[in-house]
Amino acid sequence: MSCLFCSIAQHNIPSEIVYEDDATSAFLDIQPRSLGHTVVVSKTHAETIIDLPAASLAPLFLTLQHVTGMLSRALHPAGFTIGINQGLVSGQTVPHLHVHIIPRFTGDGGGSIHSVVNQPPNEAIAMTAARIRKYS
Ligand code: AMP
Ligand code: ZN
Repeated sequence: MSCLFCSIAQHNIPSEIVYEDDATSAFLDIQPRSLGHTVVVSKTHAETIIDLPAASLAPLFLTLQHVTGMLSRALHPAGFTIGINQGLVSGQTVPHLHVHIIPRFTGDGGGSIHSVVNQPPNEAIAMTAARIRKYS
């Protein structure tokens, strides 16, 4: 199967890898939204966080933590926006789960995660919670 981020993680496509280990890879986004915009992936192919085997989750989040620290020390941003686009509707263009680490700088003009969408539901949140709990 051909997958862009598997190919990058396997060094078959050039990229600016800033950190990797046996299970994960972190490389600079080719179209950075800010200085140091980094993408973190598991070397296990999965399209979404729902599909990723449980054993691959901890390595991914450990690398996310480690690389966020690297970026903090190297570039001194004022903060970070960290997130996943999952599904076409959210803007996922590469069907291999990846976590964006976007360094944030004072006065960068960006918004918070809350600015991604603003379509409040008509349903009371207690009703929504009840519907969700049935699937725990
Ligand atoms: P998403 O829209 O969440 O699927 O994000 C995919 C990201 O991958 C985008 O920010 C792209 O700029 C980035 N991207 C696409 N191709 C490459 C590549 N060859 N190397 C590094 N980043 C890439
Ligand atoms: Zn893949």
